[in-house]
Amino acid sequence: MTAHPTLADVVRTLEALYPPSTAEGWDAVGLVTGDPAQPVRKILFAVDPVATVADEAIEWGADLIVTHHPLFLRPVHSIAATTFKGSLVHRLVREGIGLYVAHTNADAAPRGVADALADAIGLVDRTPLVPAAGPSGSAGPDDGAHPAETGIGRVGRLEEPTTLRTFAERVAAALPPTEQGVRVAGDLDATVSTVAVVGGSGDSLFDAVRSAGADVYVTADLRHHPASELRERAEFEGGAAGGPFLVDVAHFASEWPWLRYAAADLTERLADTGTVDTRVSIRRTDPWTARIGSAHRA
Ligand SMILES: [Zn+2]
Repeated sequence: MTAHPTLADVVRTLEALYPPSTAEGWDAVGLVTGDPAQPVRKILFAVDPVATVADEAIEWGADLIVTHHPLFLRPVHSIAATTFKGSLVHRLVREGIGLYVAHTNADAAPRGVADALADAIGLVDRTPLVPAAGPSGSAGPDDGAHPAETGIGRVGRLEEPTTLRTFAERVAAALPPTEQGVRVAGDLDATVSTVAVVGGSGDSLFDAVRSAGADVYVTADLRHHPASELRERAEFEGGAAGGPFLVDVAHFASEWPWLRYAAADLTERLADTGTVDTRVSIRRTDPWTARIGSAHRA
């Protein structure tokens, strides 16, 4: 008879990989649905806890979905199936499917979201862009798990300096396809070597990117004013070739590489408690479904 871990075993293992204590204070991570006593045979990994991912989990017969984004970030007073989120909870509970969220704790962890993105685009010699502060204000979390490797984003260098154009093409090739593709701010012929990355929305971290001396910053959801001001300042201080340049990717795409790491690392760590089958969702849950090019670019 093949042994399978319980959901409690899986949660314990996920929390060793992505300690909840390293999540941001506003975040909502952990188990959303599921009975800790239930056996877990099949685990589906996805960026978003949305209807199409629930469909995929039900079709495949998954016992657990691990997502990056929370289903509930704010308190609710009803999970009746009269809303899209309540309906999703009902479907998961009815099918006996657990939902577990690893969000900013997965961003910060070694081999987490930021590391997976950094690996995908070939960054070496890297450190956290903003190292995690421990509860006592020390450089790392007090739980002692790889303190120097935990924190928001990563900064490192490319094996060989290259042009911004070649680098942006490499980013596009490394990430799953999206309608947005890859947007660039800066001189495509400029040379880039030091790179900062933040999975998900990263325009609050420009100061850290500048302090780190990054030539280019890869992140998602960059807004007009922060992006414009960053480039204006860079050109004022360093001329047209002055960094940091910006490479803006789809939020979904920036976080997707982590799913493979999570599946592999969880499977390995669960080996003593039993076998699990894992699958990384290939459903594109990026909300953007089309892009109409500007007329003058026809
Ligand atoms: Zn995100």
